[in-house]
Amino acid sequence: MQDFWQNYIDGAWSDGGGGRIDVVNPGTGDVLAAHALANAGDVDRAVRAAERVHASRVLTDMRPIERGRMVQEMGRWLLAHLDEISRVLTLEQGKPLWEAVTEVKGAALYFEYYGNQASTVEGKSIPLGAGYFDFTVNEPYGVSAQVIPWNYPLEMTARGISAALATGNACVVKSPELTPLTNAYFAKAAEAAGFPAGTVNILCGLGQVAGAALVSHRSVRQIVFTGSVQTGIAIASAAAKNVVPCVLELGGKSAAIVHEDADLEAFESDIRWGIYFNAGQVCSAMSRVIVHESRREELLERATEIAQSLSVGPGIERDVEGPTMGSMVSDGQRDRAAGMVQVAESQGARVVTGGRKLNRPGAFLEPTVLDGVTSDMTIAQEEVFGPVLSVMSFSDDEEAIEIANSTDYGLVGGVFTKDLDRATRVAQRMRAGQIFINEWFAGGIETPFGGFGKSGYGREKGREALWNYVQTKNVAMKLG
Ligand code: NAD
Repeated sequence: MQDFWQNYIDGAWSDGGGGRIDVVNPGTGDVLAAHALANAGDVDRAVRAAERVHASRVLTDMRPIERGRMVQEMGRWLLAHLDEISRVLTLEQGKPLWEAVTEVKGAALYFEYYGNQASTVEGKSIPLGAGYFDFTVNEPYGVSAQVIPWNYPLEMTARGISAALATGNACVVKSPELTPLTNAYFAKAAEAAGFPAGTVNILCGLGQVAGAALVSHRSVRQIVFTGSVQTGIAIASAAAKNVVPCVLELGGKSAAIVHEDADLEAFESDIRWGIYFNAGQVCSAMSRVIVHESRREELLERATEIAQSLSVGPGIERDVEGPTMGSMVSDGQRDRAAGMVQVAESQGARVVTGGRKLNRPGAFLEPTVLDGVTSDMTIAQEEVFGPVLSVMSFSDDEEAIEIANSTDYGLVGGVFTKDLDRATRVAQRMRAGQIFINEWFAGGIETPFGGFGKSGYGREKGREALWNYVQTKNVAMKLG
């Protein structure tokens, strides 16, 4: 592991005007490495480099199938360095090594998927009668700014830059302060794929400094952000000042409704993945389960068994897929989650299992199940972003839908029942951008993902996301 990592601006590695930041291994609490911190001047250099690439038209004029091939090459490069990247990811983020391998593969898949689609972003011809010929062109915005969270630093950056590059944009990425290291590999991948210097710029910096400078830069033409609501509002406000479109993905408090006829044995797997994958630090985590009162006891028993079956410890020691969970990303996030459990208890919830820090160095929190949660409790309204499942109960379908829709968020939702008429009706009524029926996380890179309400706006993944990165130009021609 190298002990100092730099920013990547205009095809060169450089120190930051903002000094350095220590990156801590949350699995041990030890300092892992230091990373350069960008200041506003560094951000400006990166944006100008990206702007030069765009102005040169090298990406715009390239045949899209060629551009797509380069995007795909970035994914292949990541896979060729799978072992190295996944180890660094585990060490900086805390997730089990096998989950890190899954993330690197997931990141590579974005480059395959969007690289494949570069040549499918077609315009159309609009009939105006015999005297005219009219057509539309989808032009890249130019400089795309991407502000990345710490929970999936590779997948989140891959998701945005693969689609941005496939459509001919140049990118400036502000990597997360807590997990900046692995983002360096995108710079190496872009270089290996042959993208001109300045096409992909990767900078770590403080949100209030480098992040704020990037999203308010006058040459940035499009913004993608994943993270908290509070920061999303700041970014949307900065974007509005420059009249720049942005895509916001701001997390959730997503609910699964479990009806009396649901297959609870199968649902165990949804609990395992829905709330304990990545130690619950997933924007679309199944953080609430709203179960029919007749099945509550059984569900609690099964959830407790799953939670207690997980071996919790340093991610680097957990290299085989199985019942394991790593640390959270930082002591701060862990303490925040543990504090939210305490507040829930004081408001009347019951801790069925977990809720405590592990008695060892590292940002560990026991997999937690809370019972007796009601919509008026803080834990039912605010994102924990940790391995904490809130169990709520209902007596009729209307009540279940009302509870599910009772937060400001609306990212995803789930319905579990054998009755597909009922599932469809509930899916129609749930206020969320993506609904899972009988499997949490059903769907994939091909399906549009994004929120209703405070979960944000715009869609990522799927073909729909390509349109975030292009603007329509209509060309109307008068014929002689
Ligand atoms: P955050 O929203 O503050 O940070 C996310 C990114 O935004 C980071 O790269 C940060 O540097 C940057 N940023 C912060 N302030 C900025 C500003 N004014 N302008 C531009 N960029 C800025 O999130 P966090 O502090 O890392 O975590 C806080 C909470 O956010 C978590 O507890 C969790 O609930 C939520 N969160 C959600 C997701 C998600 O995937 N939806 C991801 C991370 C965090």
